[in-house]
Formats: sequence, structure tokens, C-alpha cells
Amino acid sequence: MLNGVLKSVQLVGSASRARLCSAPTELVGGISFKLSEEQQSLQELARKFTADEILPVAAQYDVSGEYPWPVIRKAHSLGLMNLSLPKWLGGLELGVFDDCLATEEFSFGCSGIQTAILGNGLGASPLLMFGTKEQQKEYLGRLIDEPLMCAYAVTEPGAGSDVAGVKTTAVRKGDDWVINGQKMWITNGGVANWYFVLARSDPDPKTPAGKAFTGFVVDRDTPGVNPGRKEDNLGQRASDTRGITFEDVVVPAKNVLGTPGMGFKIAMGAFDKTRAPVGAGAVGIAKRALHEATQYAMQRKTMGVPIAQHQAVAFLLADMAIGLETARLAVWRAAYEADCGRRNTYYASVAKAFASDVANKSASDAVQVFGGNGYNKEYPVEKLMRDAKIFQIYEGTSQIQRLIISRELLAAAMSVKS
Ligand SMILES: Cc1cc2nc3c(=O)[nH]c(=O)nc-3n(C[C@H](O)[C@H](O)[C@H](O)COP(=O)(O)OP(=O)(O)OC[C@H]3O[C@@H](n4cnc5c(N)ncnc54)[C@H](O)[C@@H]3O)c2cc1C
Repeated sequence: MLNGVLKSVQLVGSASRARLCSAPTELVGGISFKLSEEQQSLQELARKFTADEILPVAAQYDVSGEYPWPVIRKAHSLGLMNLSLPKWLGGLELGVFDDCLATEEFSFGCSGIQTAILGNGLGASPLLMFGTKEQQKEYLGRLIDEPLMCAYAVTEPGAGSDVAGVKTTAVRKGDDWVINGQKMWITNGGVANWYFVLARSDPDPKTPAGKAFTGFVVDRDTPGVNPGRKEDNLGQRASDTRGITFEDVVVPAKNVLGTPGMGFKIAMGAFDKTRAPVGAGAVGIAKRALHEATQYAMQRKTMGVPIAQHQAVAFLLADMAIGLETARLAVWRAAYEADCGRRNTYYASVAKAFASDVANKSASDAVQVFGGNGYNKEYPVEKLMRDAKIFQIYEGTSQIQRLIISRELLAAAMSVKS
């Protein structure tokens, strides 16, 4: 039965991409929001997995802060991880759109566990886009063979939004590179088998960012790689976030991604693929918030009627529904553009920024609908509010998304004018 499910899931990538990419010419004058059969199978499988494996343990992992290895292993065994990895490596080679479908479902159950799973998508993206076949076979192949994690190590204590301010250095020594520096806030930092690491390879401060950095794949067990303690975060507590010290870490030249100096482009390029799925995670929170608030509003009575019958409460639910529907559309558009092979930077930032804001407003409104109970850990919505906040911070803050959107907008306006 499992094989049957997986087989049907395996069809999703190629079929969906064929359908999505041909849409503009085939569907002249029309648009379809109908999922393919394969996409429906994937969505149903992810929904069932969330109901059976994530929802029952979400509160427990939120309290303990333990890494959800049993859930990860189960997701891996069902083929629900690393969805985008290529077929020649044994992967499903699904599209960004398909990834978003599964991510929204996981996040409905627990966005902390979803982030742990999605962390692999971010870590793997630079290799998928810029790795050689040998690099992909060695590092992405491992992720398919075993339930292993990887991580994307770019941020530092002094450089988050300002990626060009990264201070970690990489110095060429013969056939090797030696990396020294400190990374911070790395998702899956303590559990990863390998890291994508961005380091400054040209010490000249005048060298532009586009030429000054190099991207590396670094094995976790390389001497000098030291993850710190697990950070005690506000939300998404099942996700493992750490600082990592790199002390005289010797990395062979074959582990350089692309060519030396290309690192900035590689690190930023990954976001075009991952920001739509991050937005889908935010949509999952918005959906859960609306679900919980609606159920509660129909049960809880004040002044002799369910609170859902007070217009002020009903309109809160309506606003949450408006946010959910429009955020999902923005995410789907960004994913669609990526799957069509078009540059989707603008759409990805629109989706990520909007869905993150919607998740935060929806979670806060859900707490409002629950009243005093909403403020208490016995009820599920305070966790949503804590979990939602990070969507406005990681993978580029909401301010940085607006910076990107405005730059893209103005560049497009300039090109029309000239
Ligand atoms: C739980 C968690 C997981 C994370 N996972 C990863 C990961 O896996 N890999 C990784 O590399 N990083 C990761 N990060 C780091 C994350 O991407 C950064 O925290 C984020 O980019 C913001 O950087 P910063 O914390 O240095 O804040 P800063 O850059 O110092 O920003 C502080 C404030 O100033 C604003 N700001 C900064 N510059 C501008 C500007 N030019 N214009 C307008 N406003 C501005 C920001 O929006 C923010 O509100 C993670 C962070 C957290 C908390």
C-alpha cells in the first residue's frame, strides 16, 4: 500500500510541472485552481501524516524542546521529505508548488516540526541549483538514503539581514580551504549531517559582494566544527536552532559550490525556491488559527448565544478567512513561477511577507476569540501566536522582503521607461 501511495506521489512532480508550465499557452483566457490527481494524493498523504503523526505530539515537543526524530524518521520512510531531490538520485523531483502543498499541511499540525523538515529544503537548495553531479550524489544522495538533516549556515551574530557583512573567512591552502568564523541561528544546526556554509574568500573590503564570498559544503564531523547549545526560542520549539563555530576547518576544494567568489549569488538564489514554501508554512498557521477559532466560537456562549453569533467575533473569523485565502494564492503564484523556471524573486517576497503577516494577525485574532483561555497553554492558540512570529524574521525579515519588492518594482518601472 505504501508503495502504491509513493508511486502516485512520484508522479506528482513531472505531471504537475508539465501541467503548470504549459498552462499559459494551453489555458488561453482561463486559469485553473484544480489540483492534479497526483497533487491531491500528496496533499491527502501529508494531511493524514499530520493528523496521525504531528498533531498528537505537537504540544509535547513544544514543551520539551526535543528534536522530533521519530516524526522525521516516519516522514522520511513515507517519502514525505526532500521532495525536490532529483529522480536520478532516487528522489521524487517534485516542484516548489508540490512542496508548498505538503508544507501547509505539516504546518497546520506544528510549524516547528515543519521547519525542522523544511530546513533540509533550504540546506539542499544551493547544491540542487549549483552543485556538480558528484557533490549532489555524495551529499543529496545521503538525504534520500537515510533520514539525515542538513543546514544552511549563512547568518552570523553580526550579519543577518546584511549578508554582505558576513565575517567568516575562507583561505585557500593548496588543495584545501580553511574556514574560520562563527555562524548564528542555524536551523538544524545541532542535528545536521552537513552544512552549506557561506564564507568571505576575498579579504579586500572593496571587492563587491557578488565576487567576495564562496559557498562550501562542510561535513558535520570535520574537525573544528562545533555547534553550540540549542537556543531557547519563543516558538517553533521543536526546531533545533544553534550557533556554530568554525575553527581552522579544513575543507577540500572539491567541496566548493560553483566557483570561488560565487557564494553570495548561490546563497541568495536559494531563497527563490524556498520562500514560497516558507510562506506555505505561514499559511498552515493561518489555517489552523481559523480552524481553532471557528470551533471555539461555535461552542463558547456569552449573553445566551454562541460567540460566533456576535458580529464582532464573526467578522474576526471573516478577516482570518480573507487572509488565509489571499495568502495561499500569493504562495501558489510564487511557487508556480518557480516551477515554470522563471525568476520569481518578486513573487516569492510578496508571498513570504504577506503570508507571514497574515499568520501573525490570524494567530493573534484566534487568541482574541478564545478570550482568557486563549492566553493559556491548556489551549492550542497561544502556541500558534508564538510559532507565527518567526515567519516575519527568518529567510529575510518582513522589512527585507519589502526592500526586495520595492527594488524589483522600481527596476521594472525603470526598464519600461527607458
Ligand atoms: C529561529 C531562527 C531560525 C533561523 N534559521 C536560519 C538558518 O537556518 N540559516 C541562516 O543562515 N539563518 C537563519 N536565521 C537567521 C535569520 O535569517 C536572521 O535572524 C534574519 O535574517 C534577521 O537578521 P538579524 O537577526 O541579524 O537581524 P538584523 O539584520 O539585525 O535586523 C534587525 C531589525 O532591523 C531591520 N533591518 C535590518 N536591515 C534593514 C534594512 N536595510 N532596511 C530595513 N530594515 C532593516 C530588520 O528587518 C529587523 O527588524 C534564523 C533565525 C532564527 C531566529
